[in-house]
Amino acid sequence: MIDLGVLKGSSFVVLGLARSGLATVRALRAAAIECMAWDDNAPAREAAAEIGASLVEPAAIDWSAVTALVISPGIPNRLPKPHRVAAAARAAGKAIICDIELLARAQPQARYVAITGTNGKSTTTALIGHILRAAGRRCEVGGNIGRGALDLAPLGAEGSYVLELSSYQLELLKTFRAHVAVWLNITPDHIDRHGDLAGYVTAKENIFARQQLGDCAVIGIDDEPSRNVHRRLAARPGIAAIPVRLEEPVPGGVTYRAGQLVDADGYAVDFSDVPTLPGDHNGQNAACAWAVCRWLEVPREKIVDGIKSYPGLPHRQEQVAAVGNVVYINDSKATNADATARALSSYRDIYWILGGQAKEGGVAPLAPWFDRIRHAFLIGEATELFAGQLEGKLPYSRCGDLKSALDAAHAHAERVGQGAAVVLLSPACASWDQWKSYEHRGDAFRAMARALPGAKSLGRAA
Ligand code: ADP
Repeated sequence: MIDLGVLKGSSFVVLGLARSGLATVRALRAAAIECMAWDDNAPAREAAAEIGASLVEPAAIDWSAVTALVISPGIPNRLPKPHRVAAAARAAGKAIICDIELLARAQPQARYVAITGTNGKSTTTALIGHILRAAGRRCEVGGNIGRGALDLAPLGAEGSYVLELSSYQLELLKTFRAHVAVWLNITPDHIDRHGDLAGYVTAKENIFARQQLGDCAVIGIDDEPSRNVHRRLAARPGIAAIPVRLEEPVPGGVTYRAGQLVDADGYAVDFSDVPTLPGDHNGQNAACAWAVCRWLEVPREKIVDGIKSYPGLPHRQEQVAAVGNVVYINDSKATNADATARALSSYRDIYWILGGQAKEGGVAPLAPWFDRIRHAFLIGEATELFAGQLEGKLPYSRCGDLKSALDAAHAHAERVGQGAAVVLLSPACASWDQWKSYEHRGDAFRAMARALPGAKSLGRAA
């Protein structure tokens, strides 16, 4: 846990009592710093009360005595409509911050490696953390990836915090400085919270806001808005702006394609046989991790070892089992067509399980990959929408639920027989019609696939 003693004499309101909010309450209480807590959700309040939080009715907060509001990044503080507690804090002229800002204030000596982008944040964060650890460097991995920032261990000047930061977190930072900032890519997302694409980009660009002479920015430049971000950064004196791009060499940068990575000095690495990093999208993640670790002076051989031994993250194109030549892949994290496109582009001969709660546009944008699909198995609420979109384009079955879909896919793969193929759960949908979360859905898929007759478990333990 992070010691927040440096904040003695301050007083905070903590809004939102899930993982990061609870960690914040715990750390503030441990440092005997005054804090009041609130969550609109009663079970969350009960969990907070159990760890000794002082709950306060929003209307009863005396803002004159409060230093700042520490808000859960998921709670709107501006758009589409500020939460009433955020509105009251702003009206009282109080700062609205998140736990990452408290970490930065409490650990000013440490080095910060921050990662953002629309897609690939968790993978790149986990990969950088893995490479650094494998190379014997001290680091702590957290932020949006799942470990609350204040639950991390104190590092002082000895190590690096490797933090995944969402646009919601980034707009709540006031003094946080990223010594190394990674910008992977940008496509329109979370527009309800940021107003428009420009607002989303502005929130994310806060990752570079307080960089200083000698700091480094690694920027994926495969999309237009990101190229503009790179141009702006390259014009800033004293910041090393390292571009990362698909295929074409770029001066001073890193390129990647089909499992090959080439750095600024022409040094090439082949990681096409790393099963945890399939597809060009993971090439972008690996190339950015490479640039970061080179900047941190990790020897090349150590980075290669780290990439090759990367264990992967659950639910992201995770190989979970094999039955003969057929590999079963859990990509439950793919809750929209964009993410599913990445998985479809990574394999040929696919038995595709999809469905759940559909996003706008459904699976129509995935047509360029339909020739890779042997059969589709539809589940959940989206069944009729997707059946309409697939009709006449590829063979499909209505399966109802995940277990029936998996059994049907298994039976198809067995019937067709030899030859490498994949059974891929990449739903292009939210999970909430049938599951508690994408993790719940993916865990169930992993367990079911491993229980198939003749199945051999692959990858990490559940
Ligand atoms: P995030 O944390 O940004 O949501 P993840 O690393 O968890 O990203 O990956 C989520 C999904 O996004 C993956 O399953 C994959 O489909 C897709 N993805 C991963 N990396 C990239 C990338 N660099 N560009 C585009 N899509 C990606």
